Amino acid sequence: MKNKIAICPGSFDPITNGHVDIIERASKIFDKIFIAVLENPDKESFFSLTERLRLVKSSVSHLKNIEVESFHGLLVEYARRVSAKAIIRGLRAVSDFEYEFQMALTNRKMDAELETIFFMTDHKYSYLSSSYVKQIAVLGGDIKDFVPPAVLKKLKGGKKQ
Ligand code: ADP
Repeated sequence: MKNKIAICPGSFDPITNGHVDIIERASKIFDKIFIAVLENPDKESFFSLTERLRLVKSSVSHLKNIEVESFHGLLVEYARRVSAKAIIRGLRAVSDFEYEFQMALTNRKMDAELETIFFMTDHKYSYLSSSYVKQIAVLGGDIKDFVPPAVLKKLKGGKKQ
């Protein structure tokens, strides 16, 4: 396959070291990855879309083949727009499986050419989630091992943006 393009969609509310690890590994396999930050007016996020985009951009700035964009609507349409042939997702515990399985099959039904590719979490991040990080930060705990520097700076003090 030439010019292998993938999308990596998510809420990234906020981006964690678990996300960054997956993006770094995927960036070695694909020529270009579009990180698609979900704009979902129905789901209240901790950080605004603008802030989530800024934090993702600053956390992956060391990778040259990554673009960060917001998206709303159907993922398969976004993938077509950027000529992506794959969706990258991460898998942590078995608990992720059911949701990811359903989403992968639904997207395949809508576009049979679009493959979902799963990256197994690094064991260091297997328990790590954006919601876990937010809870710890709000309660004043130390999150420096869990998030990139820009997110740490933003979450220090546990303030909602
Ligand atoms: P969504 O709201 O779409 O689940 P998230 O930002 O929570 O978006 O997650 C995006 C993707 O990153 C998902 O596939 C999720 O399973 C994966 N992910 C999140 N945290 C980790 C982690 N610690 N290790 C591996 N994958 C992760």
